[in-house]
Amino acid sequence: MSAVVVGAGIVGSSVAYHLARRGVEVTLLEQGPAPATGVTGDSFAWIGGSGVDWPGGARDLREYVLADYRRLEAELPDVTLRRTGSLSWARTPTDDSRLGPGQFVIGRSDIAALEPNLRHPPEQAVHTPSDAGVDPTALTRALVAAAGRHGARVLHDTSALSLQVTNGRVEGVLTSTGLHAATTVVLTAGTNVPGLCEPLPADLAIAASPATLARVTAPPGLVKTIVACPDFEVREVREGDLLLVVPQVEGSAARERAAQDTLHHLKTAFQGGDQCRLLGYRTGSRPMPAHGPVIGYATHDRSVYVAVMHSAICLAPTAGRLIADELVTGRPASELERCRPGAR
Ligand SMILES: Cc1cc2nc3c(=O)[nH]c(=O)nc-3n(C[C@H](O)[C@H](O)[C@H](O)COP(=O)(O)OP(=O)(O)OC[C@H]3O[C@@H](n4cnc5c(N)ncnc54)[C@H](O)[C@@H]3O)c2cc1C
Repeated sequence: MSAVVVGAGIVGSSVAYHLARRGVEVTLLEQGPAPATGVTGDSFAWIGGSGVDWPGGARDLREYVLADYRRLEAELPDVTLRRTGSLSWARTPTDDSRLGPGQFVIGRSDIAALEPNLRHPPEQAVHTPSDAGVDPTALTRALVAAAGRHGARVLHDTSALSLQVTNGRVEGVLTSTGLHAATTVVLTAGTNVPGLCEPLPADLAIAASPATLARVTAPPGLVKTIVACPDFEVREVREGDLLLVVPQVEGSAARERAAQDTLHHLKTAFQGGDQCRLLGYRTGSRPMPAHGPVIGYATHDRSVYVAVMHSAICLAPTAGRLIADELVTGRPASELERCRPGAR
C-alpha cells in the first residue's frame, strides 16, 4: 500500500511515523511552513487523567496512553515527558466518588510539599501522580523527523485542495503543487477534515472549538506540577517557560484582558510570581467531533481514512499505532470500534 497523510499536526505526524516505520510508502502534506503550525502548537499538552476529557471511544484508548508515550520515548530519543503529576482543585470540596484510577485526595501539607511556592495551598486537592506534560511542538517535529528517517516524504507549504476521484475511486490528493497519488488517503487535517472529505459521513460534523494559551517566562521551578485551579491552569513546559490556559472569551480586547487577569492570578498565587512576564498568547481551534474520536475508513472502497479527535496530544501516539496496524494488516483494531465514522 501507499499513503498520503494530509496535515502534520500531532495526529498526522503520529500516523505518518507509525506507517513509515512499518515500511509503508508515505507522503505527509502540510499546508504550513513546518509541522505543528495548527492547534497542536498552541496546546497545553497535559497527558493523563484529570485534565482531559475522554468522550465516546476515547475511553477505550485511555489505558494505553502512558504506555504508548513510554514506547515513543524509547524509540525517539528527542521525546521526553515531564512526569510532574498534577494537582487540581475547585471552589467546592472534592467528591471522592468522582476520583479516577490513580487519583488521590491530599491535604494542605502534602499540597505545600508538592508546590512549595504556593502562597495559600487549598485545604485539599486531587493529586494524580502519573500525569505528565510534553512540549507538543517538539514532539510533533520529532515524529516527523523520525518518519523522514524511515523513508516518508514530507512536504511543507503544500495545501491539499481536494481528493482526486477517478471512476468513483479516490486515487490521491490534489494539492497546490500537483497531484499526490496513493492507495489510501489519510485525512488528519483537524478542523479542515470535513471540507476535504465530501460527501461527509453522517457524524463528521466537527466543531472548531476555540481555546487560548498564554506563554509566560518565570523563575525556573516556580511551578512544579500541573496545577489546575479555579483561576488558571499552568505548568512548566521547559525550564523557566510556563504554559497558562486563559479562559475563553469573545473579542480581542476581552481576550487581552482575560490574559492579563489570568497572569495576575498566577502572580498572586505563587511566591516569586511577580517575576512572571507574559510573552504572548494565541487562540487555537480545537477539532472537536461531537461524540468522541472519529477514526476509520470514510468510504466503502477503503480509499479514504479519517482521524480526528479531541485531546489528541494524549491520544495520538496510541491512535497512530493502531491506525498504522490496521492499515498495514487489513485487520480492524478492536480498540477503535467505538471511534468509527457512523458508529453512533
Ligand atoms: C489551549 C489548548 C489547550 C489544550 N490542552 C490539551 C491538553 O491538555 N491535552 C490534550 O490532549 N489536548 C489538548 N488540546 C487539544 C489538542 O491541542 C488537539 O486535540 C490537537 O492538537 C489536535 O491535533 P490535530 O493534529 O488533529 O490538529 P492540528 O494540530 O490542527 O493539525 C492539523 C494540521 O493539518 C494542516 N492542514 C489543515 N488543512 C490542510 C490542508 N488542506 N492541506 C494540508 N495541510 C492542512 C494544518 O496546518 C495543521 O498543521 C488543547 C488545545 C488548546 C488550544
